[in-house]
Amino acid sequence: AKSAGGNRYELADAEADARAITRHGLTTALPAALDRGEFFIEYQPLVHLGDGSVHGAEALVRWLHPQHGVLGPDRFIPLAEHTGLIVPLGRWVLEQSVRQAREWQERHSDAGPLRINVNLSPCQLTHPGLVSDTVDILERVGLEPNSLCLEVTESALIGADDDLLKPLRRLAEMGVDIALDDFGTGYSNLANLRRLPVSILKLDRSFTQGMQQFPADPVDLKIVEGIVSLAHSLDLAVTVEGVETGAQAEQLRLLGCDTAQGWYYARPGPPDRLHDLALVDATG
Ligand code: C2E
Ligand code: CA
Ligand code: CA
Ligand code: CA
Repeated sequence: AKSAGGNRYELADAEADARAITRHGLTTALPAALDRGEFFIEYQPLVHLGDGSVHGAEALVRWLHPQHGVLGPDRFIPLAEHTGLIVPLGRWVLEQSVRQAREWQERHSDAGPLRINVNLSPCQLTHPGLVSDTVDILERVGLEPNSLCLEVTESALIGADDDLLKPLRRLAEMGVDIALDDFGTGYSNLANLRRLPVSILKLDRSFTQGMQQFPADPVDLKIVEGIVSLAHSLDLAVTVEGVETGAQAEQLRLLGCDTAQGWYYARPGPPDRLHDLALVDATG
């Protein structure tokens, strides 16, 4: 009796230890990783649902770890938030992404100004340098504020007071778009949306998943239809994420969603991939 149970516990302990060591190891390696240039950014296109043309891209950070290979953001963003490294890391992501958008625009002036979406963690929202850093980067690089969209999760803004909203409001007044990311996963009061300086709702992937069948579940359709009509009545654009099939894209288009993102169009990839996609657009 002792051996079976004992082994199981030993195994569980060993796994927990390995996870803890990795977590600890990753946490202590983070600052040097930024200095050594181990982070890189993949870009995932956002397309207009109406005609499929490229609207811009979302910047998604990755870590090329010397021992563990490529790590996704879910592995290290929480650690970076915990240690505060998210502030310099986030600033680095913003600057790289803004530079990239500027380069796309120079190479594809005929494709319309390609836009860039950058994720902001809640720690960056409360950091006093947010507005000045953003302004400084846009000016140095020479990108118009209205080519930048900052994505903030719905949960970061639930119950937000005016102090938290002030920097976002300043950025919005300058022309930077603020998107409410993962919309529909929190329990924000829909009427509260009017108070937030957001111009875009990013509908969470869980809604898109309900559209996999054609026709989709009638209740799912009603919910998305309601969100879209509310958003549009408040002058907000609706982006959908996690679109994996043509059937999903078509139903979301019929429901009036404005832009979409997902594997159906393209996985996150290197910046040159967006050149190719945008070039196809511009030349027909
Ligand atoms: P998110 O902002 O909701 O980003 C969308 C995630 O969905 C990305 O995961 C993307 O690769 C994935 N995705 C895109 N299309 C599809 C699809 O069709 N199907 C499925 N199943 N997934 C799809 P990723 O790159 O692993 O990023 C995870 C999260 O990490 C992001 O979620 C975001 O919250 C965070 N993140 C990424 N980059 C940054 C960053 O630079 N700063 C901060 N603070 N957070 C970041
Ligand atoms: Ca996002
Ligand atoms: Ca999201
Ligand atoms: Ca997410």
